[in-house]
Amino acid sequence: MEFIDFKSQYQKYQEPIDRAISKVLTHGKFIMGPEVVELEDQLADFTGVCHCLTVASGTDSLEIALRALEIGPGDEVITVPFTWISTAEVIELVGAKTIFVDIDPKTFNMDMTQLEGAITSVTKAIIPVSLFGQIPNLEEANRIAALHDIAVIEDGAQSFGATRVGRRSGSLTTIGSTSFFPAKPFGCYGDGGALFTNDNQLGEKMRRIRTHGSERHHHHTTVGMNGRFDTVQAAILLAKWPFFMDELEKREVIGRRYSEFLDNICTVPRVDDKNSHVYGQYTIRVKNRNQVQRDLRDKGIPTAIYYPKCLHEQPVFSKLGYTLGDFPAAEAASREVLSLPIHPFLNEVDQDRVIKGLHSLLTTWSKIWHAFLLFKRLG
Ligand SMILES: *Cc1c(COP(=O)(O)O)cnc(C)c1O
Repeated sequence: MEFIDFKSQYQKYQEPIDRAISKVLTHGKFIMGPEVVELEDQLADFTGVCHCLTVASGTDSLEIALRALEIGPGDEVITVPFTWISTAEVIELVGAKTIFVDIDPKTFNMDMTQLEGAITSVTKAIIPVSLFGQIPNLEEANRIAALHDIAVIEDGAQSFGATRVGRRSGSLTTIGSTSFFPAKPFGCYGDGGALFTNDNQLGEKMRRIRTHGSERHHHHTTVGMNGRFDTVQAAILLAKWPFFMDELEKREVIGRRYSEFLDNICTVPRVDDKNSHVYGQYTIRVKNRNQVQRDLRDKGIPTAIYYPKCLHEQPVFSKLGYTLGDFPAAEAASREVLSLPIHPFLNEVDQDRVIKGLHSLLTTWSKIWHAFLLFKRLG
């Protein structure tokens, strides 16, 4: 069993993908070729925004967003400590200061009730993360941000295709960002990402930053970067596009099935009523996480831990001055989370192996746990 099965995916879509790559090799427009523009139009249409621009990665996209908002030294940007390093890395990259707020233990997303308290006179943006494929309460983030005239950037690297009150991830904030890293819900065969906005000025500025800050050829008005998305990768995504909705549906079906059978033995993902979840990861919580992971591995079931350490515990962020205990919900999550295999090609036989494997382990563990609690009570 594979944690993510790229081989089956390629086998199934091989013909259109090979054809698309070959077309690019033939026309030779490897940088900003017609496929890049076509994909951007497609994605803008899908998410319902005015401007979509593809970029070299889901990390570059966040950096470009911050730069377009002219965020830098002296500014603060608020995000969560329970996310992939990129979310906070880019804040430091542009010279701003990272401010963390804790997560809601039920959804693993930013606890919006703590947001207001973290805002200062130098706060310039908030980056909520749609972790594991579910969008946070962005209406609340937007409401608070509007009161203070600051921008909201959704880090939707794991949630492309997800919806909140019927609107797609990427379209709900000042700027939306996503990633096409192979393991993400809409993955290419290398690095890639995209930015979304309805703001004409920001859209134009982000485009400029993506291509060396140039307004036109050999005329550079801003410090930019080489942040372009490869034409070959755009062609691959276009070839995969017709299958994407079906893939999303399959992910949701598997996620629901897991939840149905695992709900009584561990904490399964809780889906907010307003959301559709794309299960970029299907993440449960268990007390004896490391042991459970080892035991599942012995049964041939691959799992992953996202994330074993919170960002405020990472050496690179020690300078921020946070200590263990500052973000109890995030810290508890990092000790208990376990992501199960989920991809559109995971058949029911393998799903059942995961479910049965967990049942055999957790039923025993919960017996031991309850015996321990009883013992403690008895003194
Ligand atoms: C994957 C990921 C990124 C970065 O995307 P890349 O394309 O790998 O640079 C950023 N934020 C989150 C939450 C991610 O999961």
